[in-house]
Amino acid sequence: MCGIFGIIGHPEASNLTYLGLHALQHRGQESAGIVASDGRQLRSHRQMGLVADIFGAPTLEKLPGNASIGHVRYSTAGVSQLKNAQPLSVEYAGGQMAVAHNGNLVNAKELRTSLEADGAIFQSDSDTEVVIHLIARSRQPTFEKKVIEALSKVKGAYSLLFLTQGQLVAVRDPYGFRPLVLGRLRNSYVLASETTALDLIEAEYIRELEAGEMVVIDAQGMRTSQPFVPTRLGRCIFEHVYFAKPDSVLFGTSVYETRKELGRQLAREQPAPGADLVIAVPDSGVPAAIGFSQVSGIPYDVGLIRSHYVGRTFIEPQQSIRHFGVKLKLSAVRQVLKGKRVVVVDDSIVRGTTSRKIVKMLKAAGAVEVHLRISSPPTSWPCYYGIDTPSRQELIASNHSTEEIARYVTADTLGYLSLEGLGAAVGDKERNTFCTACFSGKYLAGELSEAAAAANAKAATAASAEPNNAEAAVATGPTMPAGKQLTA
Ligand code: AMP
Repeated sequence: MCGIFGIIGHPEASNLTYLGLHALQHRGQESAGIVASDGRQLRSHRQMGLVADIFGAPTLEKLPGNASIGHVRYSTAGVSQLKNAQPLSVEYAGGQMAVAHNGNLVNAKELRTSLEADGAIFQSDSDTEVVIHLIARSRQPTFEKKVIEALSKVKGAYSLLFLTQGQLVAVRDPYGFRPLVLGRLRNSYVLASETTALDLIEAEYIRELEAGEMVVIDAQGMRTSQPFVPTRLGRCIFEHVYFAKPDSVLFGTSVYETRKELGRQLAREQPAPGADLVIAVPDSGVPAAIGFSQVSGIPYDVGLIRSHYVGRTFIEPQQSIRHFGVKLKLSAVRQVLKGKRVVVVDDSIVRGTTSRKIVKMLKAAGAVEVHLRISSPPTSWPCYYGIDTPSRQELIASNHSTEEIARYVTADTLGYLSLEGLGAAVGDKERNTFCTACFSGKYLAGELSEAAAAANAKAATAASAEPNNAEAAVATGPTMPAGKQLTA
């Protein structure tokens, strides 16, 4: 996952991009970068780490100009290294260009192999670089047309920002997987993954880009076209469940309100009669826990405190750090929990590691019963469109029942929201404008589903070749009867 931001027509373009990236930091914490144009030249600064640590006045002063794009990265394709940090910028026969990408291309490997066979030399492992090569090779007369030709060859999820010496170009794939919004700040135009970035710089929200739309902004003003025609929408439902920031308006609706509604729906479907209080796993579980409390009538309280000095647990790329991270990030409030029957609401269970630690923490702090409620359905399928999810083998819900998961995480009861309930809460009962593949296994039609099926088959073959690590299962944990054994 990643966050992207761009602005054109403002003398403080790189300073505002810095602020915009700050607001989008939740979308990626591995690396960040800004490229600015003064009309003649692009200048770039990319580094591993957090936006606030990378950029300061001295760095930003070296990025002058009226136009700028920026990127925060969490790798879903390519390893976590500086060479893969974005925006990627190059010099080619047509001039200079930089690109910032949120999403994941499903046919990048094939394209890369054929470009390399033709003599192309790649500088990174990132799927985004394929787009740069395709643009550089295009014989179309304008940059816009080169971009269209290049993107007609790629498949998958992309919200993209391109910067040349004189133009800012924004494109969203025809499924609209990843968000991208347009705003205005006096005479300048702003593009961002989420509206929270517009709010921070006090830009006015104009609208979301349509799926398949291209917006070009230069000295002549702004023009828009629809080079890619959507066959059906596949907006990522997981953005609403977990990824986006709650104060953002995403795909036309408030993330906060949607999450609260997920919690209300969860309380209707998976009540916890007799419980004394509802608590959230902060921060992502808070709106849903409030919704759960509203419908159930069980009082909401703060039973877990989140440290503000660590990032998102799961976002740390190494499993070893992730394990430790839960304890670093959350601490239990004994005074609230002691002797209580507690409903704890979280947004999702991926591997089960976090939930297991949390339940143990709550019981150690004196909770007599812990009823875990999840404001989304079981995450059973990997995402190929830009959310970082592990393989099916590692997704606890892909090979264990809800009862088995409850035993593993040591919760007294466990209840997930249904897929129907999720659809209703996001205002899409038929679920035909959202991609729900991570919950339903229904990857979108055509080439996209073929790519997903191929990747799944590959993962299954790799997994069956792996030795069974049953011995590694925790001594205190229950034995998981089906699929791969779980280690704590
Ligand atoms: P796990 O320990 O693997 O079950 O992690 C589950 C936690 O990670 C949940 O509490 C979510 O808030 C969070 N989470 C779920 N999906 C993602 C993701 N793709 N990226 C980062 N964090 C996630």
